[in-house]
Amino acid sequence: MEKLTMEKIVNICKQYGFIFQGSEIYDGLANTWDYGPLGSRLKNNIKDLWRKRFVAERENSYELDAAILMNPEVWVASGHVASFADPLIDCKDCKTRHRADKLVEEFTNGAETGDGWDNEKLENYIKDNKIPCPKCGSNNFTTIRKFNLLFETHMGVTEDSKSKVYLRGETAQGIFVNFLNVQRSMRAKIPFGIAQIGKAFRNEITPGNFIFRTREFEQMEYEFFCKPGTDMEWFKFYEEYCMKFLTDLGINKDNLRLRKHKPEELVFYSKGTTDIEYNYPNGFGELWGIADRTDYDLTVHSNHSGKELKYLDPDTNEKYTPYVIEPSVGCDRLLLAILCDSYDEEILEDGTTREVMHFIPALAPYKVAVLPLMKKYHQEKAMDIYHKLSKSFMCTYDEAGNIGKRYRRQDVIGTPFCITIDEETLNNGTVTVRDRDTMKQKTIKIDNLEEYISDRIKF
Ligand code: ATP
Repeated sequence: MEKLTMEKIVNICKQYGFIFQGSEIYDGLANTWDYGPLGSRLKNNIKDLWRKRFVAERENSYELDAAILMNPEVWVASGHVASFADPLIDCKDCKTRHRADKLVEEFTNGAETGDGWDNEKLENYIKDNKIPCPKCGSNNFTTIRKFNLLFETHMGVTEDSKSKVYLRGETAQGIFVNFLNVQRSMRAKIPFGIAQIGKAFRNEITPGNFIFRTREFEQMEYEFFCKPGTDMEWFKFYEEYCMKFLTDLGINKDNLRLRKHKPEELVFYSKGTTDIEYNYPNGFGELWGIADRTDYDLTVHSNHSGKELKYLDPDTNEKYTPYVIEPSVGCDRLLLAILCDSYDEEILEDGTTREVMHFIPALAPYKVAVLPLMKKYHQEKAMDIYHKLSKSFMCTYDEAGNIGKRYRRQDVIGTPFCITIDEETLNNGTVTVRDRDTMKQKTIKIDNLEEYISDRIKF
């Protein structure tokens, strides 16, 4: 297959109902995207599998669904109001605006990311290396200005400053402020984790690359509270755990890499940060950030709120502020990685091209397509089977067009099993089940169908 482009993925997503441009009939709203019937199924499947791995299969792990609007003091304490900002630089010649850290990152092909550098260091690096403006090629930039990424809105009917609130810039803060609520109500013992899936909002200055960087996106964040001193061991554990989750989702290992932050890139409170990057059509980019955040978050919230956020060990009577390991992944970026990794164009023996999404069955929007061979004779039986299987799996039904075309349509949306209803079904109670990846067909008794499929979609 030719190298996959982002444009191609955008087109497939639109054509087959995965993702549409937001507000399209009004000419859109820049960089907003709506998940269609298949995209929302896929996204929900990703969330379900993440939940399975990070909540159900972990001992002492709890889910939370906190409010998007929080007391603005949360964002003061966390440092977002003062310093959740991108360093912006303008080209004096063509008047375009850029993120200074991204100029450095692109210029050095990722060898330097500019993370953790102050304005002076960024400005000097851009000047000394004569980094050109990506638009016009000159090296005539303004000084850097900071641009806060928090979205502001107002609560209530008056627009005075007292009612100003922020749309959350990350889901993590909802977890930190509920640390004691969860610990006490669940009688949780350290180490334990709190997971949250939800929308986050950032007024990104350079959104783009489809759903890679948007202003409204969804995060799946996990805060793992552990005893100081055990943190590095858990940090390593989660690096491996997250990587395994990605390869279990079917992502090719060769398209993933770990990028450990250099000491000078680390924020002052972090003992270690590793990004898992995916090889998107436009190159490697951050998919998952894993950080040892020490006791920073609980300490700042404790100091700012005046409420003690400590853990009392019931066995030793020791009281301490736990350390936190945070694996934080963007649901949309993960979905994009899965789409890019699953898509393939195969040349078949007859010279035709087959487009196929090789989703693992657990991720596929539809598990099963029920297809009557001939509508006139097999429709009734096919509908019976469709209704029966729909009680257990997401199924689709298609009776239009020749069977080969119907198989192709299921291939490109990633349906792992096509069930064909024909004369044998009416006479012997059997169906043929076609496997998406091998295209091989198998005869199965109707009574065994449910078990056959269940066994093959497990994660
Ligand atoms: P970047 O450096 O790409 O701006 P970040 O380091 O600011 O990302 P985090 O704050 O660590 O990102 O957020 C955790 C995860 O949330 C990221 O790894 C990414 O998958 C996702 N994410 C962050 N910003 C966006 C965005 N604007 N659009 C989509 N996903 C995002």
